Amino acid sequence: MPKPMVVLNVQQCEPNQCENGICPAALQCRRKALVQEQPFEVPELNSERCLGCAVCVTICERKSLQVYRW
Ligand code: SF4
Ligand code: SF4
Repeated sequence: MPKPMVVLNVQQCEPNQCENGICPAALQCRRKALVQEQPFEVPELNSERCLGCAVCVTICERKSLQVYRW
């Protein structure tokens, strides 16, 4: 079974569209694979840490996060 992989589309991500510039998807990532250093900054995705649980994918209303299965 291939590991699902999450990809962040930085062109699509608009932190200023999220409440107070805070990424709700990053807040819910228990692995700290998706991290936002500062409000209004695009979060960073660490694929090594990511489990592919897709919790963040369901949270991002701008569909900036997508899950792929290879
Ligand atoms: S990834 Fe989605 S939820 Fe997170 S800051 Fe970007 S647009 Fe907002
Ligand atoms: S898929 Fe899961 S582990 Fe990976 S960044 Fe999203 S919430 Fe975090």
